[in-house]
Amino acid sequence: MTAPGRPVHVLAKPTGAICNLDCTYCFFLSKDALAPGAPARMPDRTLETYLHQLVDLHADHDEVTVAWQGDEPTLMGPEFFRRAVAIVEARLRPGQRVQHTIQTNGTLLDAEWAALFAEHRFLVGLSIDGPRELHDTYRVWKNRRGSHDDVIRAWTLLAAHGVDVNVLCCVHAANVGAPLEVYRYFRDELGARHLQLIPILERATAETLPIANAGWSERAGRGRLFYRQEGDLVTDRSVDPAAYGEFLVAIFEEWVRHDVGTVFVQLFDVTLGNHLEVSSLCVHSETCGAALALEQNGDLYSCDHYVEPGYRLGNVHDTPLATLVGSEQQVAFGRHKVDSLPGQCRTCSVRFACHGGCPKDRFDVTADGEPGLNHLCPAYLRFFGHTREPMATMASLLRAGRYADEIMDDYRRLDATTGRNEPCPCGSGRKFKLCHAR
Ligand code: SF4
Ligand code: SF4
Repeated sequence: MTAPGRPVHVLAKPTGAICNLDCTYCFFLSKDALAPGAPARMPDRTLETYLHQLVDLHADHDEVTVAWQGDEPTLMGPEFFRRAVAIVEARLRPGQRVQHTIQTNGTLLDAEWAALFAEHRFLVGLSIDGPRELHDTYRVWKNRRGSHDDVIRAWTLLAAHGVDVNVLCCVHAANVGAPLEVYRYFRDELGARHLQLIPILERATAETLPIANAGWSERAGRGRLFYRQEGDLVTDRSVDPAAYGEFLVAIFEEWVRHDVGTVFVQLFDVTLGNHLEVSSLCVHSETCGAALALEQNGDLYSCDHYVEPGYRLGNVHDTPLATLVGSEQQVAFGRHKVDSLPGQCRTCSVRFACHGGCPKDRFDVTADGEPGLNHLCPAYLRFFGHTREPMATMASLLRAGRYADEIMDDYRRLDATTGRNEPCPCGSGRKFKLCHAR
């Protein structure tokens, strides 16, 4: 089979499961058990083979995205990425563009890195979970010291070099109760303009839960537990679905009052896109399968969240990327997202925006006992239901050739008629002055 015509997003992990931090919720650290004996760093031969195949796969596209992730990809050093840039640029066809992206914890960045990212216009995803005390709950060094100050130093450095940075904020038990504190910190104290909210759900079975609660990396270090998408229990660190719904609504209510068109929150963009019938994120698309993961030895997996033996498609040294991406196994993986939807999702009023969420999170049962409901369903119902009307308004504005930010005028009028001691119009039940009033 040949590769599908849509662009393919491959998250490449040049260091495999190696990281300098020891974030408590990071199950990727356990994946070093997957390919014992594999090189710790991506060899030049694999780098070149993979990048040639990736560019060739996008020969019919104007742009190709080269995405690096880890555990921590900057452990490779800047020279590795200079080589990667040179290999890609030598392979592009005339007029074709490249978007380099890298996801990092930021702790190893210095002026040399910042200059490299600026020169080649890397889009940098920087992991920050909020203000210091919230960030440092789980994002820690191996000696358990928090990493907040180190990542903020990186943020400042990248900003000084004019690098485009996307804040990647994991939402978990420690920060889910502080949505406005988290959002305002990013917007007002850091000046962030692009934000991704990533719910932490760590699955476990009755047998693995006590071990998982202690932290994946600690256990993996002793070779005792390998993370799989199995079990219908979650760790203590995982986000509570109802609380996550309120978290999203609270941030949306702040954003829709003040920041439409100036702050870009991925889920809000994705939701507006779905109102316009343009899907842009696998999690909330009907099917998936175009977001794969490459390990440092050239092994390709169906998805970054399914780096498990049953989801290995092959190795780019043996089979071209195009063949692996278009394989029956991968097409079936992508179709499974819609084929496995339970009846409750098929008849759900916000299915057009939700699409049942990611299959990795579908381990609950529906109201009538059917398996396969997303554990985050209460959050999705709350968020997609709450935002339905304003999103539809913004979609109408855009369809009419106007600007989505015109909706902020409606909220200004609404807020102007609300007393500071009255209930906040967002529906939280809190006084307006303690919630979304400025
Ligand atoms: S399994 Fe989930 S994260 Fe992976 S491609 Fe599908 S929707 Fe996206
Ligand atoms: S909100 Fe819940 S029921 Fe509706 S599509 Fe999403 S997961 Fe399914």
